[in-house]
Amino acid sequence: MAEKWLVGVDLGGTTTKLAFINYYGEIIHKWEIPTDNSEEGKNITINIAKAIDHKLEELDLSKDKIIGIGMGAPGPVNLATGVVYNTVNLGWKDNYPLKDLLEVETSLSVIIDNDANCAALGEMWKGAGNGAKDLVCVTLGTGVGGGVIANGDIVQGVSGAAGEIGHITSVPFGGAQCNCGKTGCLETIASATGIVRQALENLKSGGEGGLSNLYKENGFITAKDVFDSARNGDEGSLLVVNETAMHLGLALANIANTLNPEKIVLGGGVSKAGDVLLKPVIENFLKFAFPGVKESTVIDIAKLGNDAGVIGAAWLAKNK
Ligand SMILES: [Zn+2]
Repeated sequence: MAEKWLVGVDLGGTTTKLAFINYYGEIIHKWEIPTDNSEEGKNITINIAKAIDHKLEELDLSKDKIIGIGMGAPGPVNLATGVVYNTVNLGWKDNYPLKDLLEVETSLSVIIDNDANCAALGEMWKGAGNGAKDLVCVTLGTGVGGGVIANGDIVQGVSGAAGEIGHITSVPFGGAQCNCGKTGCLETIASATGIVRQALENLKSGGEGGLSNLYKENGFITAKDVFDSARNGDEGSLLVVNETAMHLGLALANIANTLNPEKIVLGGGVSKAGDVLLKPVIENFLKFAFPGVKESTVIDIAKLGNDAGVIGAAWLAKNK
């Protein structure tokens, strides 16, 4: 029998990543399409179906080649029903029946999980997890996402909301407003947005030096600017990075004290900062972790980059 493929889909607010992936988790073809969230997002599933058909046509292959579709979607998802609870930035109404609609459009079976969970499964299967069956993945991007794998499977929780590591409260009183409605969430500190917010506050209160000059020059700063300036010894930037590392290290230690995973994998754009962030995060992690935990839980950087989502989604299609 000829090799069959899985489709991995990583649905984002602006682009949708797609890949044909074989049973060994190897990407055969990958490509992207824009996510059309106009008209309450009604074209999203149609465009994914068309993209798969066009790619098969291009490769002169029939649909029999495909076993099924795995998909990562932003927001909490009911794994059993494939209903997405709320995704403001895709235009969908609450409780959107994504699985049913995509199955109708593609005539393929579909399984859907939260995008951060898919990234965690991808890292477990083919990335930094290196097959670890107890793994926590924290994605530090525009927001902070989390996926918890215990005994080789994602921990879903009673309503699919387990692993919302970004919304662990780091500042119990007087913290910044989070998109989720709470204040003081880890996401308001350790996301790219949170790092920029802290840096701007620091500049407003009279911070000077490299970052301040950059801000005056460009009229804005990015999280990368903050890390670059910290690497060059800019005091204000170091303050922000150390504050971020303290909260992140503390949260990771508490997660590790609860789960004692083999690995905690940090992914997303912010994790590309490398040692300037990783070193103080690990220092704080070691300070706050239970002795037996810090000897066995390792913090590592994600390996798959943008491919983690589609590979993890394909793992779902293969195993579920
Ligand atoms: Zn929050």
